[in-house]
Amino acid sequence: MKRILLLGGVADALAIARTLGPEHLYSLAGVGRVPTDLPCQVRVGGYGGAEGLAAFIREQGIGLLLDATHPYAAQMSRNAAQAATLTGIPCWALRRPAWQPGANDDWREVDGWAELSAALAPFKRPLFTLGREPLQHLDEIPAGQFWTLRALDSAPGNARCEIIAARGPFKLEDERRLFAERDIDVLISKNSGSASTEPKLQVARERGIPVLILKRPALPPVDRELGSVSEVLAALAALT
Ligand code: NAP
Repeated sequence: MKRILLLGGVADALAIARTLGPEHLYSLAGVGRVPTDLPCQVRVGGYGGAEGLAAFIREQGIGLLLDATHPYAAQMSRNAAQAATLTGIPCWALRRPAWQPGANDDWREVDGWAELSAALAPFKRPLFTLGREPLQHLDEIPAGQFWTLRALDSAPGNARCEIIAARGPFKLEDERRLFAERDIDVLISKNSGSASTEPKLQVARERGIPVLILKRPALPPVDRELGSVSEVLAALAALT
């Protein structure tokens, strides 16, 4: 079987990595936890762009690149597609479908921080679930707004912002409690399409509050797009 380089960093990628044998490689950027119980090899850290990734692919005799990074990790996805072209190997990608709003949902798509900041103006108690990016904007919080910012790791907040460190999956009842205790009046989210972080959308629906959704980045075309972990596993099984 071809040697696989699996680009990961999310739960779906880890689920795929758990099925790979010892000749294959699971690749992480090094920003989150590194699993120590995988049957395959684990590599941590960047490659130095598409050229560096292409060099690694050649050195290691990789035969298939499998991009299962987060849908907003667009740089790595572009690097993967380009490195596959440079080396002449196939690139497959796990491209999870985006969440879709229900009939009564008030979802507002925003493209970048400036649009998000403008859309936030009418609200008082936003909950950010975008990761660390809002940390760069803590000194821009207007008087009268109090932010709750949920990220993987804790960080210092300020008088107008509290940072909660938490890792998914998140349970519906815990999300309900969080929104109620903090009187959240708007949710800010990426559209990851992941079931593990979806309950917050259900709570926004129940409370009738808007969701500001950061637009998904454009991703490069690849040789094969797969929509779920099970589709990936079936496609890999068909290779052998
Ligand atoms: P990014 O902007 O697309 O990538 C930035 C750089 O990080 C890449 O150019 C690459 O460095 C390195 N990198 C990214 N993923 C890598 C991987 N799987 N293996 C080795 N190097 C990797 O990515 P990001 O948005 O910062 O996300 C970083 C990682 O966190 C990704 O693996 C992603 O799956 C995971 N993640 C991201 C989000 C999100 O919202 N963006 C959410 C959850 C998890 P070089 O150019 O030096 O190779």
